[in-house]
Amino acid sequence: MNKKGVLVLYSGCSGVGKGTIMKQLLLRDPMIRLSVSNTTRQPREGEIPGVHYNFITKEEFLAVADADGYIEHAVYCDNYYGTPKKHVEDLLAQGYHVFLEIEVQGALQVMEKYPGVLSIFIVPPSLAELERRLRGRGTEDDKTVIKRMAQAEKEIEFSNKYKYKVVNDDVDRAVGEILDILHRYTEE
Ligand code: 5GP
Repeated sequence: MNKKGVLVLYSGCSGVGKGTIMKQLLLRDPMIRLSVSNTTRQPREGEIPGVHYNFITKEEFLAVADADGYIEHAVYCDNYYGTPKKHVEDLLAQGYHVFLEIEVQGALQVMEKYPGVLSIFIVPPSLAELERRLRGRGTEDDKTVIKRMAQAEKEIEFSNKYKYKVVNDDVDRAVGEILDILHRYTEE
């Protein structure tokens, strides 16, 4: 029988490079899966429904919440985001390590529900560097960048609630550090 996989809380400020690190993690460990969330926000260019997110309406989102279908859910920058319960439980039962790439309000709900959860927070080398990356991505307008920077400052304060903080100073190094943490944890 398969050993149950590890649930991993994987958070960080928007624009910190979580996505780039995640791509490398998925390539380097076939037992890692990224949970696909439901969201009410509009898809960005290049985002594929069912791969990056399940893009749904607010009514659909609230119906799932009412049916207790989320591990956690939260509102972030005026949009709803939630982790579908069955999707995650199925993957864990198959032995996959399931990464939840979620913001801090949702992460707090997960920490309360699953006290043993492995939690990793990705921080930028500095806030100035984060703003540079966010603007460089070019997918957000000025107002949104300012809003996201304010959110990021709060999130960094929150990062001490996580078991591990990983600085994204270099993608390969950060990926290696996360794999070490995960593999040590699965051996415990
Ligand atoms: P974005 O709109 O940039 O894709 O995501 C905005 C924030 O929402 C990010 O911090 C992302 O990690 C978080 N997020 C994505 N999915 C979920 C989810 O299912 N639940 C919660 N609480 N946050 C999520």
